[in-house]
Amino acid sequence: MSKRVGLYPGTFDPLTLGHVDIVERAVKLVDELVIGVAINRDKGPLFTLEERVEIVETEMKRISGESGVVINVMPFEGLLMSFAEKIGAQMIVRGLRAVADFEYEYQMVAMNQALNDDIETVFLMADPRYQAIASRLVKEIARLGGDINNFLPVEVAEKLRKKYADG
Ligand code: ADP
Repeated sequence: MSKRVGLYPGTFDPLTLGHVDIVERAVKLVDELVIGVAINRDKGPLFTLEERVEIVETEMKRISGESGVVINVMPFEGLLMSFAEKIGAQMIVRGLRAVADFEYEYQMVAMNQALNDDIETVFLMADPRYQAIASRLVKEIARLGGDINNFLPVEVAEKLRKKYADG
């Protein structure tokens, strides 16, 4: 059988323990996982693309080592389906948090199926401890000086604190 390639796309601004949990589940389903870091200029990310990619790469080394699954981190821009086709992914992995995510993802899947019906979207749910974590809220807490240690990998929490301390 051919190699199963999965694509996990997102902005990762920055990578949270929620994202990490989804990756740990996704590697059970594929032979190779590509983490697509969206350039997303519109969203005005706090971390630059280079910073976001570097953070994801650092954290993925452990998961790749433990699971034996190749994890490649790649920036991308434009249509998700075009990127998925380019890298030969058969599967797109998304994390589902709450009903609010479902509404958006439901539409996305319908549209993406119209673009390429051979690529399946698979939804995974994080461990309940991590389900509520959202990069946007973690940034807000950090900006207001709150404790972010329960939401981010240790090095990422340090980087985020530094962003606001420097700013
Ligand atoms: P986007 O810019 O698409 O919102 P994110 O970087 O926020 O990208 O997230 C990437 C993917 O990870 C999305 O599918 C999102 O739903 C999922 N995700 C983020 N945080 C969590 C979490 N705490 N639990 C489960 N899935 C999550």
